[in-house]
Amino acid sequence: MTTENGFLYFRGRVGLAAILKAIGIGSGDDVVIQAFTCVAVPEAVLAAGGRPVFADVGEDGVNLDLSGLAERITGSTRAIVVQHTFGIPVDMTEVMTIASQFELPVIEDCCHIYPGPGSGGSAGTAGAAAFYSFEWGKPVVVGIGGSVVANGAGLGEQLERHYASLQPPPSLTELKLRIQYHAHRLLYRPSFYWPVRFVYHATSALGLAVPSFNTISAENPEYSWRLSDRHRRRLERRIETVAADVEHARNVAKQYDLGIPECVARPPLALGSEVALARYPLLVDDKAELLATARRARVELSSWYASPVHPLPPEQYGEVGYVAGSCPRAERSATRIVSLPLNTQVGRSDIDRALRLFNRYR
Ligand SMILES: *Cc1c(COP(=O)(O)O)cnc(C)c1O
Repeated sequence: MTTENGFLYFRGRVGLAAILKAIGIGSGDDVVIQAFTCVAVPEAVLAAGGRPVFADVGEDGVNLDLSGLAERITGSTRAIVVQHTFGIPVDMTEVMTIASQFELPVIEDCCHIYPGPGSGGSAGTAGAAAFYSFEWGKPVVVGIGGSVVANGAGLGEQLERHYASLQPPPSLTELKLRIQYHAHRLLYRPSFYWPVRFVYHATSALGLAVPSFNTISAENPEYSWRLSDRHRRRLERRIETVAADVEHARNVAKQYDLGIPECVARPPLALGSEVALARYPLLVDDKAELLATARRARVELSSWYASPVHPLPPEQYGEVGYVAGSCPRAERSATRIVSLPLNTQVGRSDIDRALRLFNRYR
């Protein structure tokens, strides 16, 4: 079942693992990924049987350091994953030049990119394949699910074969997800972000909700699940409005551009006007304190990523093979970057509250 939105998996990471298997990744194979990422990425590499090799982010603090990429490649490297963090596009021409020197396939992590034809960007089209996520924090929210688009017929056939072996999730999981989706639609708005987040974490801990993160295990059954038909139809409906969502995101970003005082640093990005961000990143020196203030002021402010391998604390870095101190820029970003929402629920009063929060730095 490949739709015009690609192959649809239970999660984005399940799609990434499928790509890696289709490419032929197995034991002893290294996959280069960036630090300042979601644990889902190294988890998928491990699920495919490979070994994640972390590379640091560049000067911008958010995307892979292309000047240091070649140094991370060894005789065991079999693939490179590049991540368009926050929707900020990586220079794919440069990536493809480096990758072709080493004859390595490139996979684009488009989890922060608006999917579908209405998005306007070119992310996801240069590499061998791209994957997307529709989890709660992503540009298109279905609560669960991920897609894969392959850019070559050969890889497409490999994916097709593997896809035929996948099952829909069990009915109890599906039921929880349906309830969560409706609860989210009903309750979520930026001013309710903190209480909604609290309830989600509490119900997940009780096993009543499907969590975003599981214990990393080789026997995780989710890697044999596809997206259910119900969630596929929901996704198709959501993707129809992507062009309007992108327009809204650009407008909100413009308000933040103008209203947040210049003394608050933005990651140094050369963003063209065609770029649509998933979230609006800012650099602060008092991240923990600001997050606490934002909570009291009912401002949605995310700590993405709170760790170089979000949300893992240092004592769990070893589970995915990350070595503390090995990617210092990524670690620094995790202590300094916060981000504001740009989704369609963000209205005038949310923007005003956010601007007030940042005007304290004046
Ligand atoms: C959310 C996310 C993923 C994984 O998505 P899931 O659907 O939760 O598996 C992968 N990469 C990045 C950068 C993400 O933010």
